[in-house]
Amino acid sequence: MSADTNLMPIPGQIDPVPVARPTTVRDDGRIELIGRPREAIRAALEDAGLDPRVAKLRAKQIFHWVYNRGVTDFALMTDIAKAQQPWMAERFVITRPEVVEAQVSTDGTRKWLLRTHDGHDYEMVFIPDADRGTLCVSSQVGCTLNCRFCHTGTMRLVRNLEPAEIVGQVMLARDALGEWPSAPEGRMLTNIVMMGMGEPLYNFDHVRDALKIVMDGDGLGLSKRRITLSTSGVVPMMARAGEEIGVNLAVSLHAVTKEVRDEIVPINRKYGIDELLAACAAYPGANNARRITFEYVMLKDKNDSDAEARELVRLIRHYDLPAKVNLIPFNPWPGATYECSTPERIRSFSNIIFQGGISAPVRTPRGRDIDAACGQLKTASEKKSRAELDRLADEKQAALEAE
Ligand code: SAH
Ligand code: SF4
Repeated sequence: MSADTNLMPIPGQIDPVPVARPTTVRDDGRIELIGRPREAIRAALEDAGLDPRVAKLRAKQIFHWVYNRGVTDFALMTDIAKAQQPWMAERFVITRPEVVEAQVSTDGTRKWLLRTHDGHDYEMVFIPDADRGTLCVSSQVGCTLNCRFCHTGTMRLVRNLEPAEIVGQVMLARDALGEWPSAPEGRMLTNIVMMGMGEPLYNFDHVRDALKIVMDGDGLGLSKRRITLSTSGVVPMMARAGEEIGVNLAVSLHAVTKEVRDEIVPINRKYGIDELLAACAAYPGANNARRITFEYVMLKDKNDSDAEARELVRLIRHYDLPAKVNLIPFNPWPGATYECSTPERIRSFSNIIFQGGISAPVRTPRGRDIDAACGQLKTASEKKSRAELDRLADEKQAALEAE
């Protein structure tokens, strides 16, 4: 582990989560500008000696070049004085996450294995459709939680990703798709889902800061209506997510009884179904035009009975939730102890929810052949035996219960 990854707790965080020390200064002493809002670019320029008025103007110009145009070279910033460009290049850098491997599935889904500058691997996935495309973005390397059906859950949390590493995923996808400058129309990268590795609400500040840049009209320019944040149910952070980020909310519900959800989504032992659904009902900005998505993974003989579908309808009605349900066929991974429900079972489950007046489409698995589908993301850094996996799950559980 390198010196800049000394873990320290985030003050004021709901649950303690390791975070890397700020690593914006490179080995050569230059400062990374990616991940910084205008104000932080201005402060960095001023610290480097620019006159405050000039720093303010330059920050606005650089912000535009970096996030709207995708430029990584100061020499291309034509409205910045030629004489000042080398001065900037000596002090600052504009980089992208390092790509270790890029794969393409037979269905066109693309997966990138990325590496942080301190040597940790994480993944992002792009899912193209006919006239749109969704980028699935990671928020952490690994995950503190251990939902039993999720491959990422078998990893320890290595660390939170920094804003630069989160925004960097979107910028890299734009590079790969050739979609600079940030045009409002006609692009392939139209939607973002925070559904890659990790629990975004356990890395709240960085996810918020990164998404603010993604949503900035002079930045990456994606509307908050096209961004969805998925949480396993970190109830105390949900209201802040609505107020401070304001994107669409998806909730990994996956079960309708305490018994089953405690087992498959263990954070339920801390924040139960009723608390979670009450937080959904109070989610700022949710209404019939902007529904909350409930994700429900279909696990054979575990959570897929007709009675459970009826209970799901009852719960959604009881809390008067503007909701839709997304049924996700379980995606297998080596060592997983579950099987996917049969297509007939999934259809029956979906029909019951539809008949309850709630939309319940079945998500088509994408990119399974390259392990890019929901819940298959896990970087190869740690390969573990079944016994080790069980031990790790017990450890994570004990930590959750000790809080
Ligand atoms: N940590 C966040 C977001 C990442 S996971 C969360 O849990 O919501 C994105 C979605 O994929 C979640 O709903 C998750 O429960 C689901 N998922 C995880 N493993 C899966 C698997 N093996 N098959 C299908 N869906 C899975
Ligand atoms: Fe973490 Fe989400 Fe996977 Fe659960 S489903 S282990 S919260 S990434």
